[in-house]
This record gives sequence, C-alpha cells and structure tokens, in this order.
Amino acid sequence: MNKPAVLLDERYFDHRVDLPSPENPNRLRKLFPLVKQKYNGSLRLIEPREACIEEIERIHSAFYVRQIREHVIKNDPYSYDKDTYLMDHSLTTAQLAVGGCIELAERIINGELNQGFALIRPPGHHAEPGRGMGFCIFNNVAVTAKFLQERYGVERILIIDYDIHHGNGTQEAFYDSDEVLFISVHQNNLFPFSGTEREIGNENGRGYNINMPVHSQFGDEEYTFLIGKLLQSVAEQFMPEIILISAGFDGHADDNISGTLLSTRWFHTITTMLRQSARDICNDRILFVLEGGYNQDSLEESVLATIDSLLQPEMPRVGVLHSERADSLLKKHPLNQFWTL
Ligand SMILES: [Zn+2]
Repeated sequence: MNKPAVLLDERYFDHRVDLPSPENPNRLRKLFPLVKQKYNGSLRLIEPREACIEEIERIHSAFYVRQIREHVIKNDPYSYDKDTYLMDHSLTTAQLAVGGCIELAERIINGELNQGFALIRPPGHHAEPGRGMGFCIFNNVAVTAKFLQERYGVERILIIDYDIHHGNGTQEAFYDSDEVLFISVHQNNLFPFSGTEREIGNENGRGYNINMPVHSQFGDEEYTFLIGKLLQSVAEQFMPEIILISAGFDGHADDNISGTLLSTRWFHTITTMLRQSARDICNDRILFVLEGGYNQDSLEESVLATIDSLLQPEMPRVGVLHSERADSLLKKHPLNQFWTL
C-alpha cells in the first residue's frame, strides 16, 4: 500500500484578521509541527498549488469571484459577511485551499496515492456557487469534485460531510446531479439552518442529496451506527469511483460550537470505517478535507486520531452497536425506499 499523504503549508496562516474569530490560523499553527514530528517518514507530505480562477469558476459564479476580489482590498474585513472576513491574503489563501484539495485528489485518481488528508483553511462546505458564508470563501470539495469530473471523466463521486454544520454549499453545487451523491450528517437547528431530510435533490439529482440532521445529544454510538448503515446501503448501491470527506471536527464533545458528544476516539473509528468502504468499493481511493473544528485541543487530537487510523496497515472491522435513536432516523427518512436504507 502507498503511504498516506497529508497536505499542509504554512501559507494557510496568511488568511487572518486582527479581531477574535473562531476560524483563525491558530487552528493549524501547532498542528503542523506536531504532524511533521510524530509521523516523520511514515507519511508523504505534499505541498499545495494555487487553484486558478478558471477552476474555481467551474463552481462559483464570475460575479461572486469578482466580489471577493473587490472586498479583499477594502480594508474592512467584515464588509462582505459578518463571519467570513476578507483581508489582503484571503483570496490567495482560499486559492491555495482549493488547489491543495485538487492536488491530492489528482494524485489519488491517477493512482500515485490511495488516501490523503488535506489540512487546509479556510474551510469550504458553506460556500455556495454565488456566495461565501460561515468562514468559507470557496468550496474546496465541490471545486475538486468538478475538477475530477471534467479533467478525469469521473462519473460517480460520493461526498460525505460529517462536519457538525450542514454542507449547504456542496449541496447546492450538485443539487441537480446524479453523478455526485452528497451525504451530510449534521446537528439540527444549527447554522446555517438548512439541511432537512426533505431536501433530497432536484431533477436528475433527485435522491442524490441525503441530509441526516441529528439531535444535539448524539454521540459516538449513534454516529457510528448511522454512518455505518449509510455506507452499507447507499455507498454500496451507488458504487463511487472516489470518496471525498468533508471532515469537520466541530462535533467533538469539547467543541462549544455544537451540542453533540463525539469523542476523539470516534474520529479514529470513523476513519477506519470509511477506509474499509473505500477498499470495498473504490480501490481505496479516499480524500479527507478539513472543514471546521474550533476547539484547538480537540481539533489537534482528532486530526491526529484520523491520521493514526490512515496509517493502520490492517483495518480491523469496526463493530457497530445497534442504536435505536439513529435507526429511527433512517426508518423515517424520505429516501428510505430510494436507497433501501
Ligand atoms: Zn462546522
């Protein structure tokens, strides 16, 4: 097996503001040296390239990209949006975030790597084709999926988003498409307040957008059962050529942005489970992309737990306990018949 790859770069610190924001360079500042020390030699470290504007405009409108260009030079960080600050380096850093994600995806799809983890910022899954929000400027995962479709003719891409917030931007980008199956598991009644079960896709995309809003008290057991079931049913029926993961760590019990109770260990478990699926259905091709995670300690520990799992040569089968609470969500889901959940 190829060594797993991690993509990181100190230029990801350049997008910042001199006011307090949960999404800031400190999220990654200690993590990068930790990763380099702990996994010296066992991981491949890859550097990003900048995505070009033409690549970004395959998902985002030219009008929106022009707005970003205008706001980064305004000297008023919150002139565009109350969360999504824009400063002089923001555009370049956002291009590097998209480009980092593409860089790993390209190496995976052409067989140079099997699995990768892009430790990038700013995050992307809230960025819609026509607007940025929730700390997200460009939708890293969506632009990457589009790139794989257009450059490599990839016909079926599975995106699983377990950030605690709904991936509204990714949903919108592929809402009409049956070539990208988007699954978002997120806490209900939380920013951006979209992502109900009833949003199931449109036209050709009907059935290819699966939202699983969960209760704030869900933890490891419910999450493992829910995602495990989705992998066994939907993923195996869809048979993707690659799996992209919007890996958010803000569902951790210690992250105050959410009410869910995930442990550090869970991020190890779910990574193993996802790798098993990737082995079964798409030749191990899986790319993890960092989204949220705002408690620095739990983010660092959970990212390291994810990398530890990526490095396991043998993957023990994950034992899944039945969860009545999670099972009831599957049973009443509007796509229950569509996918035999
Ligand atoms: Zn989030």
